Amino acid sequence: MGTLGVLGLELVQMDTPPTTAYLQIYTDKRCKANCQFCAQASGSSADLAHIARGMYIPHDLEAVVMRLKMAYDRGYLARACIQTALYDTWWEDTVHLIKRIREESGIPVSLSVFPLSNEHLEILMSLGVNEIVIPLDACTSELFDKIKGKSTGGPYSWENHMDGIKRASRIFQKWELIS
Ligand code: SF4
Repeated sequence: MGTLGVLGLELVQMDTPPTTAYLQIYTDKRCKANCQFCAQASGSSADLAHIARGMYIPHDLEAVVMRLKMAYDRGYLARACIQTALYDTWWEDTVHLIKRIREESGIPVSLSVFPLSNEHLEILMSLGVNEIVIPLDACTSELFDKIKGKSTGGPYSWENHMDGIKRASRIFQKWELIS
């Protein structure tokens, strides 16, 4: 809702407007993961216009892309953070959104996503993604397992997420992890 307010697509009263645009890709399919805090999760019955506890009201992609360009050019936004769920066409939809943003704007783009193959990471870099976010949502492997790991029936594991973070760090060359 904060992002839509900055983009002028919703009337939102804000004392402190966000400078990052959070762009959740909307799908009417539930995510194949089952993170226990998330409205999109496979085991959730919550409204799909939410993710975690935030409201993500679907809007026309072209209107969002053009408003994003204007907001960045005028200094209202410093970054766009794309977030996706794990569903059959997530990759095609994500690439389409990144390409449309890059065709219109030089706004820095981050992608929040589950661990990806090196090949996918390299394609994302070549498309102009500046940063990759791989959320752990927990600070120990035991908590991870309870919140979004095997215990939830989802596909994620602490080990695979750690491996994904290390590979993404190396490929994006932002910093060197102490291993
Ligand atoms: S991977 Fe993301 S969208 Fe899917 S259940 Fe977990 S937090 Fe929700």
